[in-house]
Amino acid sequence: MPSQTILVVEDERDIAELITFNLEREGYKVEFESSGEEGLRKAKATLPDLIVLDIMLPGLNGLDVCRVLRSDRITQGIPIIMLTARDEEIDVVTGLEVGADDYVTKPFSPKVLVARIRAVLRRGIETGEATSPVKKLGELTINKEKHQVTISGTSRELTQTEFALLCVLAERPGWVFSRRQLIDFLRDGQQVITDRAIDVQIVNLRKKLGICGDYIQTVRGVGYRMKELL
Ligand code: CA
Repeated sequence: MPSQTILVVEDERDIAELITFNLEREGYKVEFESSGEEGLRKAKATLPDLIVLDIMLPGLNGLDVCRVLRSDRITQGIPIIMLTARDEEIDVVTGLEVGADDYVTKPFSPKVLVARIRAVLRRGIETGEATSPVKKLGELTINKEKHQVTISGTSRELTQTEFALLCVLAERPGWVFSRRQLIDFLRDGQQVITDRAIDVQIVNLRKKLGICGDYIQTVRGVGYRMKELL
């Protein structure tokens, strides 16, 4: 397989070097830019296979760059992994809203970043698009179009909120979602959702999922995630 090119846009030199070193060791070709403007120009000129994009950049920041790339027909399909500082929850949510495929929180282990890059590239190859209506995770099958959940072939009745929560978590196994993020995903009109309500929904959802209940993991002090099932 020809080597894939990854564009790294990061103004912190040591982080950029760490990423470059690890990606090159994995056989990727790496391009590097240290500002949003230059990153954007390079992305349009070279159409890399994937972009690792830091959010905190001088001038045009990562969110702006992502927005511009997503609005351009030529670059809109390039997978983007955002780098965020710890606790920049708002940035994470905004990053996903402007079309990032995944994010990694600093400080990160190069191994984690490489694994995420591989997963995002593989997803692109397998599906040709980001999401499919049917999602399979271990014994669990979710059909978003039919609003159906089955466990080992037996269907389960979920409320609309439980189903929505399950879909959000299942879309990105291994990702930790804070209660605040889950609330943002679920918010509908004037309805007010509290942290406590999310916890209650998760308890009910786990019960209904039976043997798959433990697929939804609690991350203490942070929130919830769907177990990564290989
Ligand atoms: Ca930075």
